Amino acid sequence: MLYNSTRDKNVKLKASEAILKGLSDDGGLFVPESFPALKSSLKELSELDYKDIAYEIMSLFLDDLTGDELRECIDNAYGDNFDTPDIAPISYADGSYYLELYHGPTIAFKDMALQILPHLMTASAKKNGVSKDIVILTATSGDTGKAAMAGFADVPHTKIMVFFPHGGVSDVQRLQMVTQKGGNVSAVSVDGNFDDCQTGVKQIFNDASFKAELEAGGYQFSSANSINIGRLIPQIVYYVHAYCNLLKNEKISDGDKVSICVPTGNFGNILAAYIAKRIGLPVDRLICASNVNNVLTDFFNTGTYDRKRDFHLTMSPSMDILISSNLERLIYLISGCDDKATASFMSELSSEGSYTITESMKAGLDDFIAGYASEAETASEIKRIYEDTGYVIDTHTAVASFVANRLRSEGKLSDAPVIIASTASPYKFARSIVNAIKGSSNTGRSDLEMIDDLKTLTDLPEPEAVKEIRHAAVRHDGHIAIDEMKDTVRAFLK
Ligand SMILES: *Cc1c(COP(=O)(O)O)cnc(C)c1O
Repeated sequence: MLYNSTRDKNVKLKASEAILKGLSDDGGLFVPESFPALKSSLKELSELDYKDIAYEIMSLFLDDLTGDELRECIDNAYGDNFDTPDIAPISYADGSYYLELYHGPTIAFKDMALQILPHLMTASAKKNGVSKDIVILTATSGDTGKAAMAGFADVPHTKIMVFFPHGGVSDVQRLQMVTQKGGNVSAVSVDGNFDDCQTGVKQIFNDASFKAELEAGGYQFSSANSINIGRLIPQIVYYVHAYCNLLKNEKISDGDKVSICVPTGNFGNILAAYIAKRIGLPVDRLICASNVNNVLTDFFNTGTYDRKRDFHLTMSPSMDILISSNLERLIYLISGCDDKATASFMSELSSEGSYTITESMKAGLDDFIAGYASEAETASEIKRIYEDTGYVIDTHTAVASFVANRLRSEGKLSDAPVIIASTASPYKFARSIVNAIKGSSNTGRSDLEMIDDLKTLTDLPEPEAVKEIRHAAVRHDGHIAIDEMKDTVRAFLK
């Protein structure tokens, strides 16, 4: 299996090389040159546990790792660090199946991939004779930073430093990062906003002399961001696992179609569901749900991607995105793998702020249906489901739930059961959840007090991740100016 760049088909890398590289030199994303077929039937897979299904799926895509290497990565990633042996359990509520992807150490779905990425990276480094230690630098607006720190913590031959905007993340998010254990991790707050942090990291990555200095010191940079195929491929697994779960529990029959609804930001999670369909999962519709930053809703409805619009801060912050990087992969695939066309759409996006796909490409969007939820609709969905069923969903999941229910009531979905990707524990966004249910705005109360309020509303146990931050010691208290980022990295690696 080789991977092409979406902007240059002549680029052909093995999986391990693509994982180490992250992004192609031409700016394109890596895409498998063909989609393999599942080797076992879904019926057979439904007898397997999460790890064994992960092995079946990932070995199709990451075929230059040996069976033993891949097994070791999977064993390291999906164990006691999740609070349920099922890894990705399903809850049925209000006529839909909620696929809970938040049972990992940071209680959000990014764990599903970031718990395994560090192991895939070190296995890939070994495979390619890379003897340097891998250094991950990440700018974060809150969630990804913690998930990446938790994934890389104490993984040999790696180091990770996370930069977050000072005063720009929630109390819980900050505490989660600054208390992270591990001898190879660090989190630093920067006097600036998220964009400043992001720009600072990019400048460090592009600084040739600094790179050379680090290489001489035995280090090389890599990136853990969501365009890495080492994050995308592990996300296919839970969709297959979910289908198998429903099959095994006789909620569906073999071959029955399901629809999958995903609260979408960077388009990584839903793209994984699309790939699951391409390798044989019986998926009817992929429902792309957005908040009021609804650039994707418009794209699926019109074929025009237009980022020239106001940016809104919402209660589902991980979806507050106007450029969904992973969409480039879908554009490439529906263009018939036309690298020139993809490159030209992407250059239009950066120069003009928009592009329109061709009529023939639009046919490729039929696998999808899209919709969005306003802030009021998101809050009302949380309240309605809580009051009708007692089940509590987080704000991102509520966006998806609202969109799925609205499309269903408008007759736009078939009768296929709907699986809703539930991407964060309600405890991660306790303030918004409690406010939605109680219809109040508890501005005077701290994040931890809001968590206490949520605990009294529900029988959902408080996750370990929350218990930990109540008492854990602060390990990372760095607070720097924007222009000190490079020196801070240098000092960290000394
Ligand atoms: C990252 C994230 C999303 C968006 O996922 P994408 O793969 O970026 O589309 C949705 N919900 C939560 C809680 C997230 O952390």
